[in-house]
Amino acid sequence: MRDFSGDHRWLSLNTATVRKQGDFVAIADACGRHGIRGVSPWRDQVATVGLENAVRAVRDNDLELSGYCRGGMFVADEAHRAQEHDDNRRCVDEAVALGAPCIVLVVGGLPQYSRPGSAASKDIVNARAQVDDGIADMMEYAKQASMPLAIEPLHPAYAADRACVNTTEQALDICDRLDPNRTGMLGVALDVYHIWWDPKLMGQIVRAGRDRLLAFHVCDWLVPTTDILNDRGMMGDGVIDIKSVRAAVEAQGFAGYSEIEIFSHGWWDRPMDEVLQTCIERHKSVV
Ligand code: ZN
Repeated sequence: MRDFSGDHRWLSLNTATVRKQGDFVAIADACGRHGIRGVSPWRDQVATVGLENAVRAVRDNDLELSGYCRGGMFVADEAHRAQEHDDNRRCVDEAVALGAPCIVLVVGGLPQYSRPGSAASKDIVNARAQVDDGIADMMEYAKQASMPLAIEPLHPAYAADRACVNTTEQALDICDRLDPNRTGMLGVALDVYHIWWDPKLMGQIVRAGRDRLLAFHVCDWLVPTTDILNDRGMMGDGVIDIKSVRAAVEAQGFAGYSEIEIFSHGWWDRPMDEVLQTCIERHKSVV
């Protein structure tokens, strides 16, 4: 396992972590100031400043991407299917322009939440079938751009509104179905927040292997968690044994960025430089 205690070469900042403190250009500049080498932008943050300005901010600050957030939301009713299709193709184009190593997929839950305006449904079995179809469709386009797709399993509490893929096992089953030859074009993004509780986790990380482990996200699980979406903890403030999960993915050969992704009103209220400084300290001590 790599030693992170001496520097933060392998720290990447998911830019949602400081989304309230500044736009993407301001965040990229702040990363430059703090010697942070990796970022993972969100599409809405890129759209706000414009793709060209985002590409320039990445280049000017000598940044690399550890992922691009997010593609997916594949579940839709018939009327919103074309919107989903086009939206995910645009996402691939943006990821290519930004030099992302992969697109993180949040696959969608029930259609009315995944693609608002869609007719309401309670059919999670059908939603999951649509996810398979949607990923297969997006892969066709992404493959031509050599852009890998990383399925992020989300905690089961998000099954209705964000993602009906809820375990690493389920995500890897999809990978096996759609990419049986392990081409490197489909894998998983493992976020400790979503998967730390899973009794099958360690075995599934071994099953994933190097070629399916495309991204690794860290934050912490607070007890109590007051808001399942926006009360994520800073690494070290909660109950996740982050080092043990990192050791497991690195034992498979994962050698990429450890991406910090914290959605938290508490951290959004603090100055950007203070948040980044804390991220760097915790990256060295508890990640
Ligand atoms: Zn994540």
